Amino acid sequence: MAIYDEPMDYLQLIDGELRPSRNGQWIDSVNPATGQVWARIPAGGAEDIDDAIRAAKSALDSWRALPAASRAALLRSWAATVRENLDTLWRLDATDNGRARREAEPAIAGAASQIEFHAGLAETITGDTVLVSDSATTYSVREPFGVVGLIIPWNAPLAMFLAKVSAAIAAGNTIVVKPPERASVSVLVAAQLLEKAGIPRGVVNVVTGEGSSAGEALVRHPDVRKISFTGSTATGRRITENSVANIKSLALELGGKSPNIVFADADLDQAADVVAAGIYTASAGQACIAGSRILVEEAIFVDFVERLRSRASAMVLGNPLDSRTDMGPLAFDGQYDKVREYLESGRQEGATLAFGGRCGSELFTPESPLREGYFVEPTLFLTEDPQLRVCQEEIFGPVAVAMPFADEADAVRLANDSGYGLAAGVWTQNLSRALRLTRRLEAGTVWVNTYRRLHWALPFGGQKESGTGTSNGPTTLDEWLEHKSVWIEHG
Ligand code: NAP
Ligand code: MG
Repeated sequence: MAIYDEPMDYLQLIDGELRPSRNGQWIDSVNPATGQVWARIPAGGAEDIDDAIRAAKSALDSWRALPAASRAALLRSWAATVRENLDTLWRLDATDNGRARREAEPAIAGAASQIEFHAGLAETITGDTVLVSDSATTYSVREPFGVVGLIIPWNAPLAMFLAKVSAAIAAGNTIVVKPPERASVSVLVAAQLLEKAGIPRGVVNVVTGEGSSAGEALVRHPDVRKISFTGSTATGRRITENSVANIKSLALELGGKSPNIVFADADLDQAADVVAAGIYTASAGQACIAGSRILVEEAIFVDFVERLRSRASAMVLGNPLDSRTDMGPLAFDGQYDKVREYLESGRQEGATLAFGGRCGSELFTPESPLREGYFVEPTLFLTEDPQLRVCQEEIFGPVAVAMPFADEADAVRLANDSGYGLAAGVWTQNLSRALRLTRRLEAGTVWVNTYRRLHWALPFGGQKESGTGTSNGPTTLDEWLEHKSVWIEHG
């Protein structure tokens, strides 16, 4: 199953050197499709973070002073090396977190294009000339923060690393990255491509290790001026608390419990394909924008659930490296336990299990190596009570809940009845209704007659407890830049 028979050790990148952790300790990385250890990563901590921040500080002055066109050229060369190594990189990601090839490979290819997009933006960083007095020349410029920190989750670690790091360094910052302990290998290997691309040592540093040690040390460090974090809302709160001491700038991309709203007049076949894909084949539901609440107009509720059942039963669960696989396993044992706990919670709270619910060894033949993997089949609960835990809490697995609604107002009320506000989908042929809903839904992204479509040129961010800050889009480098005003009095 794994691409290497014996577990291999991977090293951190600090100041252009490949280093183990200062404490000499390691973390096992498990292949979630088999439950086998396939790699080891350094268990970095505060000392490694200190080293990395020192390296980022030393690299800062020359990096930010480089002409924008030169930074852009280096980024383009980085994108090219990522493309050349695409086949290795997606396999590493899929082996470590179980994301099926169908998702893992295009995500990394897309991130290479995003690096090029950021290279273009680096060359267009501008300020404003605002003449406020006849005796002065007054203008603003935009400057990098300096040393910044990035903390990312395990569901798409490499694509996120490439996208965020390229934006941060395009803006002239230097960066220390803490990837997720469950899936750091692809990031460690991709970090080695930086040198090949000619990006100077210390501009990008990667320290692996636990969130509670390496992650906290990065957030608390006084020399780090900004933290960009993607992960759970609970960790986002903790990071906010820990960043208070030195008033760090924060960008937080957090969780979701996104509604997919299906009206009776929709193209129901197309809707069923995309709604099912939006929660099941979307990294087995481990996607922040997974459409985990399926709201269906009463008149078609039974019919639509049947359509979802037929899509779910045709999905192939299997080896993530196989291109026929629709759904891989959950990324690690803790996530597997969490999702199974929600399966139990849904049953106990009285939701009806429409289909699914089987896990692990129940899904494969006795000879299959996948029996020890963390697989959960596509599952759907039905309920009319939106207050159940399975309706309110982010499960982050292939478990959706379907609820009926009476009319448009009821649909909006149900959709917005969530602490989260990341994304929403609307399925209808009625243009007026679609436009009304795009305004009334509390979500950072609203899709109409499609779902889960992202593009680096369109802004992305969460409303409510789904986060603060906006990435992607033409202004994405703003997240990594500060304004400075200059007033030159000349009489
Ligand atoms: P998580 O537990 O919050 O972890 C995310 C990252 O934070 C990991 O690198 C983790 O390290 C680190 N971390 C944990 N505790 C920390 C602390 N006290 N200080 C600093 N860093 C700390 O999230 P997850 O469970 O891995 O990821 C799933 C979540 O991410 C879901 O809620 C999902 O919705 C969200 N997500 C959001 C988006 C978006 O764009 N909005 C995209 C993808 C995922 P360790 O893993 O080593 O503990
Ligand atoms: Mg792993």
